[in-house]
Amino acid sequence: MTAKYTLAFDVGGTKIKAGLVKADKVFHCQTYPTEKKSAQKFLTEIEIIIKSLINPKVSQIGIATAGLVRKEGNQVDFVPHFPKGLINIPLKRRLEKKFGLPVKVDNDVNCFILAELKYGAARGLTNVIGLTLGTGIGGGIIIDGKLYQGHTGMAGEFGHIIIEAHLGWPCRCGKLDDFETLAAGPALEKWYKKITGKKKSTYEISEMTLKNNPQALKSLSILAKYLGIGISNLITIFNPEMVIIGGGLAEIKKLWPLMRREIKKNLLPEFKNCPVAKAKLGTNAGLVGASLI
Ligand SMILES: [Zn+2]
Repeated sequence: MTAKYTLAFDVGGTKIKAGLVKADKVFHCQTYPTEKKSAQKFLTEIEIIIKSLINPKVSQIGIATAGLVRKEGNQVDFVPHFPKGLINIPLKRRLEKKFGLPVKVDNDVNCFILAELKYGAARGLTNVIGLTLGTGIGGGIIIDGKLYQGHTGMAGEFGHIIIEAHLGWPCRCGKLDDFETLAAGPALEKWYKKITGKKKSTYEISEMTLKNNPQALKSLSILAKYLGIGISNLITIFNPEMVIIGGGLAEIKKLWPLMRREIKKNLLPEFKNCPVAKAKLGTNAGLVGASLI
């Protein structure tokens, strides 16, 4: 029997990862900077990567990408990290025509939660909410064992729900005071600057929390407060068996007890036992999930 592989992509705002995936294993993984000058150059880059990885054992192409992916035709509609020229890219149609293989495209956090459901922290569960906390906040919803996509395929954009009304901090999506503006990685830097007047990176602040720096811990506790509001709202809406959290901020050890306390504080007694767990698959979740769309 011939082993079949998915040629998988994880497309982000700054880099593209690609590799050959079989079950939860990734082979020949490579990373490239994302070509953002034009849609044409981006598509050419994707095609060059496919040509470098493709072989007769590849049975499909799976693409996990940042941004909103429309269900019909797997068209990428809106990617807030990318310049305007990169919206409305007909990835699926173009690549299927060129390579004669089935091509599937979905949002990267939908792929992340599919991978965690099959091979990671949510194995065996049927109702799960996934969040990635990085430069933004992404979301994925599993209902009755299946990915919930919504009417047009764009369900789970948790980063852009409004959870505050008076700060006036703008999100790259055009809205004010939404979840990712207040609780993603760049927000930690903003809270630290608001408290101290000084500029530090998310990584630097994270390192300072390990040394119990009071301003760094204060910034982290404000971030945890907003994560508590957003995540408890999601638990109240979906009543999941588990919430799974991945992304760079999930690596900040001191965030976890603060965040769990804030989530519990906002929940009805009936929801307080919902576990909030760390993702297990690490940085390959997007690629593995791209083979499961
Ligand atoms: Zn937004």
